[in-house]
Amino acid sequence: MRFASLGSGSRGNALIVESEGTRILVDCGITLRNLTAGLERLDLALSDLHAAFITHEHGDHIKGVKALARKHSLPVYMTHGTAVKSGCDELPQVALLDNFSAVSVGGLSVQPVAVPHDAREPCQFVITATVKESDDSSREKRLGVLTDLGSYTPHVIDAYNDCDAMVLECNHDVGMLEAGSYPYGLKQRVLGDWGHLSNHQARNLLSNFDHEKIQWLVVAHISQQNNTEALALDAMQDVFPYHERILVADQDSGFDWLQIH
Ligand SMILES: [Zn+2]
Ligand SMILES: [Zn+2]
Repeated sequence: MRFASLGSGSRGNALIVESEGTRILVDCGITLRNLTAGLERLDLALSDLHAAFITHEHGDHIKGVKALARKHSLPVYMTHGTAVKSGCDELPQVALLDNFSAVSVGGLSVQPVAVPHDAREPCQFVITATVKESDDSSREKRLGVLTDLGSYTPHVIDAYNDCDAMVLECNHDVGMLEAGSYPYGLKQRVLGDWGHLSNHQARNLLSNFDHEKIQWLVVAHISQQNNTEALALDAMQDVFPYHERILVADQDSGFDWLQIH
């Protein structure tokens, strides 16, 4: 199982997850042109994608979805609320996530997880690959994708408890946000329980999990105005002190393939 990003942050998100020939896209908040170019950098084409899963209707997650669905006929999964709010319910390719049940695509199982965020019916995803071993046994590998939530619930801790890799939002440093130039209302939105995770919140969430098991921690959805890579990494330091297993997703270039062993 491996995963890569074509961009992460408030200007656009797109993640590719692959296992044994099955590839899914998580969010398409970039243009079709940028999606195509990003896939080319990973030696892939649009036709190599087998399904797309959309977390919510904010533009940085859904911008390219309609163009993608028109260009390439693949199932696009989202909640009913996301489909209605975004107008994607008109698209024949849209498949609704039914009552937050897991969806299987090839050897991947995608579990939607409800999160507190100021969208109509947002979710995030835990993606499990069943990998066959040479002795015919099989084992599961789990990637947790968790951005765009203002707070975390016991349900979120439960759902992400057993991941082999995580893409985790560290949106802002509270001090930078409070001292920064955002209008008052926007500051309150980002800081609120339905906004985005701060570095400190992400660190506290992470402290619930088994660090030995986490092969890759990707710090994601970093605010360009209200955070720095150094502050985000620093916040993680005491709960995840493994420099070789942590990296920051770039807004424009995301990150290259990361293999989960
Ligand atoms: Zn977002
Ligand atoms: Zn959002």
